[in-house]
Amino acid sequence: MTVCNDHGKAADVRLRCCLATSCRLQGAEALLETLREGCRQADSVRNGQGKQGRTLEIRRVGCLGLCGRGPLLAVDGGPGQGLYGALSPEQVASLLALLNADTATGAESHQAALLTLQPQRLDPELPFFRQQRPLLLQHCGWIDPEQIDAALAAGTYQQLLRCLDHHTPAEVRQMVGRSGLRGRGGAGFPTGLKWDRVAAEPAQPRFVVANGDEGDPGAFMDRTVMESDPHRLLEGLLIAGYAVGASRGVVFVRAEYPLAVARLRRAIGEAEARGLLGEAVAGRRFGFRISLRVGAGAYVCGEETALIAAIEGRRGLPHPRPPYPAQRGLWQQPTLINNVETLAAVPAILAFGPEAYAAIGHGRSRGTKVLSLSGAILHGGVVEVPLGISLRELVETIGAGAPEGQRIKAVQTGGPTGGFIAASDLDTPLDYEAFAARGSALGSGGLVVIGDQTSIPELVLHGLRFCASESCGQCVPCRAGTRTLVTLLEQLQAGGGDRGAAHALAQIEELAAMVGSASLCGLGQGAVNPLLNSLNRFRSEYSAAAEEVAP
Ligand code: SF4
Repeated sequence: MTVCNDHGKAADVRLRCCLATSCRLQGAEALLETLREGCRQADSVRNGQGKQGRTLEIRRVGCLGLCGRGPLLAVDGGPGQGLYGALSPEQVASLLALLNADTATGAESHQAALLTLQPQRLDPELPFFRQQRPLLLQHCGWIDPEQIDAALAAGTYQQLLRCLDHHTPAEVRQMVGRSGLRGRGGAGFPTGLKWDRVAAEPAQPRFVVANGDEGDPGAFMDRTVMESDPHRLLEGLLIAGYAVGASRGVVFVRAEYPLAVARLRRAIGEAEARGLLGEAVAGRRFGFRISLRVGAGAYVCGEETALIAAIEGRRGLPHPRPPYPAQRGLWQQPTLINNVETLAAVPAILAFGPEAYAAIGHGRSRGTKVLSLSGAILHGGVVEVPLGISLRELVETIGAGAPEGQRIKAVQTGGPTGGFIAASDLDTPLDYEAFAARGSALGSGGLVVIGDQTSIPELVLHGLRFCASESCGQCVPCRAGTRTLVTLLEQLQAGGGDRGAAHALAQIEELAAMVGSASLCGLGQGAVNPLLNSLNRFRSEYSAAAEEVAP
């Protein structure tokens, strides 16, 4: 009998349907419903005829990675085994026919069904999958993110229990330090050192904050983790809390991520119900609670002092440091702030082994990094790769290069405060220092591939408009400077003004350098990076843009 169950224990064929945001936007919920309905119908026909068929399990899962080809469906077992993208309703019917065909009538219908499905069948041997190193994303796309039992069965919370039962907080901090993990939010500060600083503060209570205010356009790594494996983040937060002597954790998520918010809220409730959060975590002598705060959508709240203000209910304004949050953070208490990916990496690192993790990588950039690939690229989505591989391997092999008819001009990294790596520099290794040496930044890991049909000055102008509108307005260089730069760039693109393009460019460059050096926080300091960086590498595009319209 064909069984259409969402969480069946044993089935001949398992259908994993991605219900993360990208696939939902591409019709995943309708696909899931069509699958369920198709299964029900096939089931009743079979039962009516007294026939038997394969047992099917339909499982809702998180991100399957290749977001640009959604909605994605993975089939494990049976004649239709494989990964499918962008299935139409007719193709779903063919797939079900293939899965339900019994051996007696199978051959012909298999053939017909396969022909219909072939264009959407994705090769599991694609470099996109084969050349990844999923440690942190290990369970994404396999488990139901809304079921704690699925997370527990996959081993989540085991590393927490190991830490509580077998390691002192200092030992946990040492393991994190030995792994070479650096902050994945962009700054790349050594995580073990940050944890030591919080633990060394005498004041109590202490807090741990997971920064899920992922605001860079083109970045969706943290969203993927929160939506697809929320319990892994909670486990990372709990381990961090134990290691630094904190009793409270906060996850700060931007309001634009409603699915992440809903799944985290559910996960926190489930963990509380199972005794994994509370006065005595898993019955041990360690108490930890986690609350969820939803940001109002200000980009600057990703900056840690502004984030603290927002959590406390104040307007999200950055303030000068020191004091650092490790000394006086949330409610003036020692506070560890780590990005979502950093915290979620910790259980994976402890399971894999800190030394083994540190053995991956390049220079001072150790371990793996989750990246989001988008723009002019055939295989866009979320990947986890070893640090140190070249940008070329990432973009041309894993991402399969630019779509037909386009050539890669550059890769934008680090969002609106990062920069561009030109196509001629694609051999740059994925490494914090190597990216900085090219005038760009690895940032949080959002990589946007720029095709040769895209104008770099227009892209830079777009990013500057974004920064100008997101400026909190506290300091003049950022508030007025970014707006003036927008005006000057618009004038340049309208012909360069009375004194010509060369003069306009010199003026822009001078002002940009001043804004970068005189602004208070990373937003103003970084807003001019793409401009200055692209003026070095793509200056001729700016001049050409002005000359095109000059009288
Ligand atoms: Fe606000 Fe910009 Fe100054 Fe940062 S640099 S404090 S965002 S005005």
